[in-house]
Amino acid sequence: MSLVVTGLRASYERLEVLHGLELQVEPGEILAVVGANGAGKTTLLRTVSGLLRPQAGTVTLSGRDITGMGAEQIAGLGLAHVPENRLVFPSLTVEDNLTLGAWTRRKGGNTAAMKAEVLDLFPRLTDRLRLQAGALSGGEQQMLAMGRAMMAEPEVVVLDEPSLGLAPRVVGEIITALAHLRDARQLAVLLVEQNIRAAFKVADRAVVMDRGEIVTEGTPQELSADERVQAAYLGGT
Ligand code: ATP
Repeated sequence: MSLVVTGLRASYERLEVLHGLELQVEPGEILAVVGANGAGKTTLLRTVSGLLRPQAGTVTLSGRDITGMGAEQIAGLGLAHVPENRLVFPSLTVEDNLTLGAWTRRKGGNTAAMKAEVLDLFPRLTDRLRLQAGALSGGEQQMLAMGRAMMAEPEVVVLDEPSLGLAPRVVGEIITALAHLRDARQLAVLLVEQNIRAAFKVADRAVVMDRGEIVTEGTPQELSADERVQAAYLGGT
């Protein structure tokens, strides 16, 4: 298993937001995490990637216990976090954003080869390498944020709402790129999405979160057939 979370509890001040989560993601697998606003999806990603310390539970990355480690250390061990709203460095060029992504890479990687792979995956970035990242469209910034994460050659990537605010065609490109990374790099992906239809197109499995707990899980096919999931998240269709 690439990522294993057991009994994860996390809080802001005294407010507990995650109440003992369990999940696993294998290499070459995309696990979608869906659920209503405020369910704790972002908090889950922040806790897994070390931005927030868990109160209880464990997180293991490729068999190694990373519970309680800081974000930089966890990144260096092979987990990349693509945050909500992308958070590229707007005044740096596209190319410099990519180069910075290699910063946390473990030893033995190849920056030039990885950059070429990212540009193959997102050809639009190629003729924009010298542009300031802040000048890119939202979709291009999402591609850059994903490309930057890949520069570290991670084993696990966690993504927070990559489709947010993007046109359907661009969402399709992002989803296709994720599927490619899963298959070509055997990447383990934890994908938080409000856009359930998009997430279900690419996910191998999904969990539904509600108020800090996982309330149901299954394949996208199984969950799409679940009346409660349909009523709550798929507009009753
Ligand atoms: P959304 O899709 O709206 O981002 P989410 O499922 O990602 O929702 P979280 O952002 O993880 O949910 O928030 C879970 C709960 O924790 C919410 O009740 C939220 O108000 C609270 N919360 C989030 N961030 C903080 C913070 N920095 N300080 C205090 N409470 C917070």
